[in-house]
Amino acid sequence: MQSNVLEWLEYTAKYMPEKTALVDEQELLTFREYHDKSIGIAEEILRSGYGPKKPVVVYIEKSVKVLVSFMGIAYSGNFYSPIDTEMPATRVNKILEVLKPELVITTKVLADEFKAFAYQGRFLFYEEIEEREESEKVQNAVDSIIDTDLLYVLFTSGSTGVPKGVCITHGSVIDYIDWVTKTFEITEKDVLGNQAPFYFDNSILDIYSTMKTGAALYIIPQKLFSQPVPLLEYLKEHGVNTIFWVPSALIVVSKLRALKNVDTKGILRRVLFCGEVMPNKQLNIWRKFLPDAVFANLYGPTEITDACTCYIVDRAFGDEEPLPIGFPMRNTDIMVLDDEDHLVTEPEIVGELCVRGTGLARGYYRNPEKTQAAFVQNPLNDAYEEKIYRTGDLVKYNERHELIYLSRKDFQIKHMGHRIELGEIETAVSSLPGISLCCCLYDERHSRIVLFIDQERKKDEINGQLKTMIPEYMLPGKVIVKEEMPINANGKIDRVRLKELL
Ligand code: AMP
Repeated sequence: MQSNVLEWLEYTAKYMPEKTALVDEQELLTFREYHDKSIGIAEEILRSGYGPKKPVVVYIEKSVKVLVSFMGIAYSGNFYSPIDTEMPATRVNKILEVLKPELVITTKVLADEFKAFAYQGRFLFYEEIEEREESEKVQNAVDSIIDTDLLYVLFTSGSTGVPKGVCITHGSVIDYIDWVTKTFEITEKDVLGNQAPFYFDNSILDIYSTMKTGAALYIIPQKLFSQPVPLLEYLKEHGVNTIFWVPSALIVVSKLRALKNVDTKGILRRVLFCGEVMPNKQLNIWRKFLPDAVFANLYGPTEITDACTCYIVDRAFGDEEPLPIGFPMRNTDIMVLDDEDHLVTEPEIVGELCVRGTGLARGYYRNPEKTQAAFVQNPLNDAYEEKIYRTGDLVKYNERHELIYLSRKDFQIKHMGHRIELGEIETAVSSLPGISLCCCLYDERHSRIVLFIDQERKKDEINGQLKTMIPEYMLPGKVIVKEEMPINANGKIDRVRLKELL
């Protein structure tokens, strides 16, 4: 019985030590190096007496170093939480307030930046880490991990302006990755091309399915995602045969006709995606150029360990048809509940997708209120405590009993693959001097966030101020000034009327 994810790294480091494990623009690590460097980090953490079961922040630019730090933290019996080095200070401070870490792994240069945040704890400098063999101390720390212990906390947008830290255990990742590697038959011969940032849950599939099987993980340079031809050439050059990207990244490639210019037919075998709606119009382009590849639409929120349903594309679709999100994964149950919490089983009836299973997060870090609202007692079970996660996603079954994603119940959106609560942007805007009323809507047709404000302001001026509070991807693409904001019968801003102005 497996109690922690490190058993995978123990296995690959022992049986395929010289195989390529991780590659970025700067370095290549074998599984032995991956393991020994992680142990070096764990030794340092344990020597300092930090932990167990405490948060350690990783503040390093996306690279192999981040993954080594993650594993080092896990080996020390603690859990990791990555903070994006591009994140504005206000938001970093909000995360630090929730997480209260006392240890940050970073580089000497980045530590100077980090000192400007509200943080008084210690630093561990990555460049001072040495490769080490496992000591008894590390072994004891690993032996004490049980599968209900946290492996990581990933922060996601919060509607009140405070990011929510999703708490995921070793057991949830083991359960998910076992399913991934069996379903897609991933082995040491495979090469994965990573797109997802490590603070985004799609990266869980990349990190752990390679660590478990001995497959290589190539961290694709971010700049290539706006240059589709060099991007596909990169995949070809490195023999990347499996990708798991957000649809936005796949769409850039298909829209710009890059598949026509670079032949990846003999190379790419699996094209997996998750995180937002994949339009069949774009998928059909990919399918035309890669007729033999496996395509799969995975669905799921961070709160259920990356994904909980999957549809392996098995038939032709018209450009306008929706692509199903499929069926629950093994050891996961999906319940579609209507407004009165009755189970929906018939096709074409809309309900909220709710999830039951080992993949469920242990709620939001230090946020009982939000946890209780989303992780609730199964309304169909009045006999014992059983939590389900209410995703807030509206779905229905089609005639084949496949799940079809329809829309959100609330004001959460997906923009270029990023999960955003419009409320988080509104909270930031409301704090700007002179603005008393504001409202954010998502313009699906133009894929942009539209901000309505009641004061004359230019978009650049607003965004210049917002940039210090929220990430770039949350900045409004359009600002509309409405001195007289429409108000509905409840006295709230009338979003329906504003939507008509998009
Ligand atoms: P995140 O927590 O960032 O993974 O975002 C989860 C949300 O993204 C879900 O609740 C959905 O609203 C959306 N989502 C994820 N996967 C899909 C998919 N395959 N199709 C449509 N929406 C998706």
